[in-house]
Amino acid sequence: MSVAERFLTHTVDNQATPLGDYNAYLTDSALREAVAREGGGWAEAHLTEFGAVAGGELMRLGYTANENKPKLRSFDRYGHRIDEIEFHPSYHRVMELGMRYGVHAFAWRNADTPGAHVARAAISYLHSQAEAGTGCPLTMTHSAMPALAHQPEVAKFWAPLIHSYDYDPRVLPAGQKKGCTLGMGMTEKQGGSDVRANTTKAYAQPDGSYEIVGHKWFFSAPMCDAWLVLAYTDKGITCFLMPKVLADGTRNAIRIQRLKDKLGDWSNASSEVEFQGAWAVRVGDEGRGVATILEMVALTRLDCMIGSSALMRQAAVQALHHAATRKAFGKRLVEQPLMQNVLADLALESEAHTALTLRVARAVDASARNEGEAAFARIATAIGKYWVCKRAPAFVNEAQECLGGAGYVEETSLPRLYRQAPLNSIWEGSGNIQCLDVLRALNKEPETREAFFGELLAARGAHADLDREIHWLTQAFEDRATVETRSRMIVERMALALQASVLLRAGNAAVSDAFCASRLGGAHGFNFGTLPADAPLAALIARASVG
Ligand SMILES: Cc1cc2nc3c(=O)[nH]c(=O)nc-3n(C[C@H](O)[C@H](O)[C@H](O)COP(=O)(O)OP(=O)(O)OC[C@H]3O[C@@H](n4cnc5c(N)ncnc54)[C@H](O)[C@@H]3O)c2cc1C
Repeated sequence: MSVAERFLTHTVDNQATPLGDYNAYLTDSALREAVAREGGGWAEAHLTEFGAVAGGELMRLGYTANENKPKLRSFDRYGHRIDEIEFHPSYHRVMELGMRYGVHAFAWRNADTPGAHVARAAISYLHSQAEAGTGCPLTMTHSAMPALAHQPEVAKFWAPLIHSYDYDPRVLPAGQKKGCTLGMGMTEKQGGSDVRANTTKAYAQPDGSYEIVGHKWFFSAPMCDAWLVLAYTDKGITCFLMPKVLADGTRNAIRIQRLKDKLGDWSNASSEVEFQGAWAVRVGDEGRGVATILEMVALTRLDCMIGSSALMRQAAVQALHHAATRKAFGKRLVEQPLMQNVLADLALESEAHTALTLRVARAVDASARNEGEAAFARIATAIGKYWVCKRAPAFVNEAQECLGGAGYVEETSLPRLYRQAPLNSIWEGSGNIQCLDVLRALNKEPETREAFFGELLAARGAHADLDREIHWLTQAFEDRATVETRSRMIVERMALALQASVLLRAGNAAVSDAFCASRLGGAHGFNFGTLPADAPLAALIARASVG
């Protein structure tokens, strides 16, 4: 035996095969059916094209964009203050592809076609599976439009720049750019959920503009071209648009203090900023800032649902693929009965989140045309933001475990998905705030109650467990003295009932019966992998698998 042969300790065997490039749209039956069901099927060709990008180049870029975190450059080499963020080329390419396919603008460019928000939700869902951090500026750019509409002359200038499919990272006055991105600044040190605790002040100038003095404690996407920010005038909290570069080419007086050192979301540069007399224009009426910016937040909350559904789908894809090719104890993991239960349960949960998210996207889409859908969007966004986002960390961890030790190693995407998973439930209104928002909607806008129960009643009689749940929910609000304390339990059950209603009407009995029995009928434990033995495990796995 040669020396070289003696030092060959082993042959590499029984490793899962690489998933490789795949079409993230065409291989996702639950997504495709939901897009068609909710009225976005006309965008099938666009989604198919982007599905290949998302499951290919974008997926690969996601690794490098996150391995190389953005850096704050406060000064140039000569000591001039520049407040710029330096990103890895992969980040720029992800942004370029995201904008080319319209994550930030597809819904507005196709606003005359019903279903545009559904198709755009699917675009965002595909994008987020490959790279979630860039979802932050893209989602804020998309969501800013309804708030900007409160100030027509401001909207007139910014809309074409937002609607552009060109990514232009140059630091220039907005009017000289091919396309722009927008962010938002609400959260201050003394209060995030309670934005009325803000201390930032706006001083009116003779020409009608304002000077903003104060700070923001969380200011994601400081490389954007402009931000919607809240600040106090004498008349109360007010919304402003603050550009990064002024029309004469000088930088606005916005100082980036530092970047946040975050658990995850590494490709995205979240910062702390101070406004040292920053120039801004008012958006909406003075004193109506919260109501104005909530129009943006309504859309970013839907995007939190989209982002968390996407993370869960991608984690499931990775788990299903691994289990299909890795063997233990003489059989592929996917053939082991207990692993089948885990995988099928993940697939089922993932489909329920995707189905509800796309249903809410349809309601948002139809809001301007249909009051009932507007009311449904109002309440279902808060319900879904609470439930879908809350489920992501445990879900991704379970998917991670399907890969064994490999799932804890950065070479797989699971650690990145896991770090990202808690974020959507925290920002844009944390879990409790969503539950309180559901109660607020039910109290102040009675049409939301009608819309919610109307959605459930559309599936009445289709499954005994849903019928029982509807009955429970009709009585859940009666004890008004304790309703706030109980609101997490109520909103959780509202979300599960909504998911059941959507799945039952979607018409795949294997999915809807397993969902109702396990999530509403009590035939399920606290962990994933606790479906009853007679659940259609193989069918659920086959439906969710990519190859
Ligand atoms: C990575 C990252 C990026 C961010 N980017 C931005 C950004 O770009 N712009 C921006 O404006 N903000 C941003 N945020 C801030 C985010 O929106 C806030 O952190 C969030 O809204 C919570 O506010 P807070 O941190 O002040 O927590 P708090 O308001 O102090 O809340 C703490 C906890 O108390 C709960 N709580 C609050 N009130 C009640 C109540 N009445 N009853 C029961 N429970 C309650 C909340 O649900 C939460 O769980 C970002 C946050 C993160 C993590």
